[in-house]
Amino acid sequence: MSVQYPFVNEPLPYAYDALEPYIDEKTMHLHHDKHLQTYIDNLNKLLEPYSQFQEWSLEELLFNIASLPAELQTGVRNNAGGVFNHRFYFENLKNPSGEPTGMLAKAIKEEFGGLEAFKEKMKAAGLSVFGSGYAWLVVDALGRLAIMTTANQDTPLPLGLCPVLNLDVWEHAYYLKNYNMRASYIDNWFKVVNWEQAEKNYRFCLGME
Ligand code: MN
Repeated sequence: MSVQYPFVNEPLPYAYDALEPYIDEKTMHLHHDKHLQTYIDNLNKLLEPYSQFQEWSLEELLFNIASLPAELQTGVRNNAGGVFNHRFYFENLKNPSGEPTGMLAKAIKEEFGGLEAFKEKMKAAGLSVFGSGYAWLVVDALGRLAIMTTANQDTPLPLGLCPVLNLDVWEHAYYLKNYNMRASYIDNWFKVVNWEQAEKNYRFCLGME
């Protein structure tokens, strides 16, 4: 995966139709090949005249938005955010999904009371986003799991929160298959969560990987 300028749109880690029938092939083509590609192109264009930032990773750019030149900040927020959020979203999908295991399963039980209770809370968060954005499962500074939302292509990174899962609730993520029914898209998303990868993300957040 390209970690710095010039960013490249790496192929999905599975076939476009791998998430059928939960997330459709056409949506995956558009989402990866058009939407993510546009964020990558815009980010490369933005960084082209700034050689001093061309070795920075997405995470470094996003953590340090406030210290970037003022004229770069909005563009980095939207486009580095758009690249980070989409790569993270695609990486954390898998069909068949499986069930949470290991440390993450235990933490979900402790924090939310169980998987079903977690799903209800995550779904409510996804439905609560007005307009475009994401719901997130994150690890906070105290090492505890939390659910939060971000608007547009904002990420939890500048808040010092470490992502475990993200749920893209932009209409482009679901409109072709689910029309305006975000709730049915979210129910389908739960069927293709890559819990194995989420466990790795969780351990990384705790400093274990
Ligand atoms: Mn999207």
